[in-house]
Amino acid sequence: MLNRKIWQFITIGTVTLIATASSLSLTGFLQKDYLNNPLNFSQLLGNKSPDSLNGSTSVTAQNIALNTSKEAIPREFQGKTIYEAKLPITDKVIALTFDDGPGPKNTTQVLDILKQNHIKATFFLVGQMVSFHPQIVKQIADEGHVLGNHTWHHWYRRMDVATAASEINRTADIIYKLTGVKTTLFRPPGGFLHNGLVDYAKSQKYAIMMWSDESGDSQSRGQAATLIKNVEKSVKPGGIVLMHDGGGNRSRTVKALPQIIADLKAQGYKFVTIPELLEMQTQAKDVVTAESSIVTKDEHPNHQLHHQ
Ligand SMILES: [Zn+2]
Repeated sequence: MLNRKIWQFITIGTVTLIATASSLSLTGFLQKDYLNNPLNFSQLLGNKSPDSLNGSTSVTAQNIALNTSKEAIPREFQGKTIYEAKLPITDKVIALTFDDGPGPKNTTQVLDILKQNHIKATFFLVGQMVSFHPQIVKQIADEGHVLGNHTWHHWYRRMDVATAASEINRTADIIYKLTGVKTTLFRPPGGFLHNGLVDYAKSQKYAIMMWSDESGDSQSRGQAATLIKNVEKSVKPGGIVLMHDGGGNRSRTVKALPQIIADLKAQGYKFVTIPELLEMQTQAKDVVTAESSIVTKDEHPNHQLHHQ
């Protein structure tokens, strides 16, 4: 009788142990998968190369049913214009964003700095530059950063719907073909909201990502110290920092970046991608009923600051 009870005890204990271990490893897998290892679309599609998909269908943010990647954003932000995330003042997180790349030299330098600091950022890519430097784009994606759409030509001028569609869809397509990533974020060149691009991007459910913190690295004046001062002047929880890794010589950005990161870390800030930032706002709103999180005004002081 005693032996039987001991045996039962051992059996139940073993089963519990196995169940707990499985559950923990599953949780670990899911978390890791969500944060670091997005599902690759070629895997989802049975290792079918994206090139072999129907080429007549553009890859846009519209069909996000399968987009379980780190690019996925909460539905409430689709088709909206966002300058920052509204977070409690105690949530000291910000998102670093880099525009106009990939550049032949500065992008990999930026990637090295981010890697040394274990930071994931968001890169708004220019399609034409992607076609020139495909390996760098693969590196950005492989290293866990988020890819956003910054049009094919980086034009500021007014354009008709067909041109706007081409600017955005060509860029989305080349990013997808190279990396399997479906972009959900759009940043209008120069911050222009009324030249036709944003209207089209909204119709495709992209989140229009502006910024709240301007480094000024696309301006001709100012040394690295000025960039550092600019970023730190406007930093706040939920902020989005605008920097550039392409569109010209960005050695000042490369020089300023390690100091910016060190200073903000010293202030207690953590660095997240834009989708992570938006997700945090959604989570925070469940806890605190905050004022409207989305800035819907059409104009913003930043819109006159042009990128180079
Ligand atoms: Zn730009």
